[in-house]
Amino acid sequence: MSAMPPANPASTPFGSSPTYLMACQQLRAVARETGLDEGVTDRLMFPKRSQVVAVPVRMEDGRTETFIGYRVQHSLTSGPSKGGLRYAKNVDLGEVAALAMWMSWKCGIMNLPFGGAKGGIAVDPAELRGGEKERLTRRFTDEIQNIIGPRVDVMAPDMGTDEQTMAWIYDTYSMKVGYACPEIVTGKPVELGGCVGRREATGRGVTYCITEAFDELGIRPETATAVVQGFGNVGSVTCDELVKRGAKVVAIGDRYGAIRNDRGINIAKLSEHVARNERKTVAGFPEAEAIPDAELLTTPCTVLVPAAMERVITEANAGKLRCRVLAEGANGPTTPEADAVLARSDIHIVPDVLCNAGGVTVSYFEWVQDLAQFMWDEEEVNSQLKKQMLRAFRRVRAEAKARRVSNRTAALSLGVQKVAREKAKRRLYP
Ligand code: NAD
Repeated sequence: MSAMPPANPASTPFGSSPTYLMACQQLRAVARETGLDEGVTDRLMFPKRSQVVAVPVRMEDGRTETFIGYRVQHSLTSGPSKGGLRYAKNVDLGEVAALAMWMSWKCGIMNLPFGGAKGGIAVDPAELRGGEKERLTRRFTDEIQNIIGPRVDVMAPDMGTDEQTMAWIYDTYSMKVGYACPEIVTGKPVELGGCVGRREATGRGVTYCITEAFDELGIRPETATAVVQGFGNVGSVTCDELVKRGAKVVAIGDRYGAIRNDRGINIAKLSEHVARNERKTVAGFPEAEAIPDAELLTTPCTVLVPAAMERVITEANAGKLRCRVLAEGANGPTTPEADAVLARSDIHIVPDVLCNAGGVTVSYFEWVQDLAQFMWDEEEVNSQLKKQMLRAFRRVRAEAKARRVSNRTAALSLGVQKVAREKAKRRLYP
């Protein structure tokens, strides 16, 4: 019998997304490198379950508008699937599938009892008025009710969603099942069973990785400069944490513009500026000069932190980066083509699946606390987060050194192999 050709991701319902094709390309490379079984590789290329739903919403002006929502569960092998919910204009099925796949690897690297999932609604949250975001969220929750559950699939915030969004999901789900079910989402308000320190967890984890990388390279944080793309949850907390350690943040950008001040941007004042303006942007901050968006990532610095969106470091700009460490706060910010360029530089990369794993790690703590109905204090949360981030960081570095591969290949192989090992032990059903 002749061997079947490997599955072709481009010819699937996810295949029109460059982000999905990028995630598949990474998986194939790791599968080749680690000698992963081809049948298992093919299975891991495709999510276990994907649901696309129409979400009709009554708008403030009385019209009904229908949005498209997605929930993709990549793997349920290791436990419930876990992953954020993103509200962004151009979200599509393939992007969500890629993000779900990366979540599986991330949970594997962190040794969490979860598979990966992700959700999204194609909507620009900045354009929603009055109660539209709440109605959208509640109707979406209702539409995907049949595939979520505290032992099935647990959501969390991502781009364009926050603690309040999670509170609406919690309430909608609880009303449906008839009892309060805080463990249906993580990243919810502390008053509703949220975990102290969850909001800051991703940025804190990013900073632990940066300081570990600095340690290895002999860089003192007080002498370091940082450039950060994105000033939302991940970007703003990373800035705060870096400044606490004595570093200077010299440039920051978001979807509306970028700013630079070589003497160091005052993050507390910038946060006030962002909170005050309607678009919640760093643009127009009086204590910094405006720079073109394209200059942000190539601004010279010790550490560059993309913390906004995927595929921003490409073959076109990778050669122009002027940083010593690239700490990927966002998911998928660097394309495989850019990776090839960076491999020829001395830039130390902390890959996304490791760097931003603090969020899902504290989400796991939150889920455990909700199931046990026993809450931890912030000291406990932060010390456990630090312990688990450092352990994962050191495992990835040890793997990279032992096998003489990049940090990305090392991290992805640890994640992929964990899932593959569990699949092998459970065996194929039926
Ligand atoms: P957020 O919505 O809080 O903030 C997003 C930021 O990115 C905003 O400042 C926005 O203006 C900026 N942005 C959007 N489009 C941009 C563009 N085209 N150019 C420049 N900036 C742009 O989102 P977040 O939760 O901070 O997530 C940011 C990234 O981190 C995403 O890739 C997300 O998947 C990833 N991530 C988030 C978490 C979490 O816990 N929130 C965990 C892991 C990974």
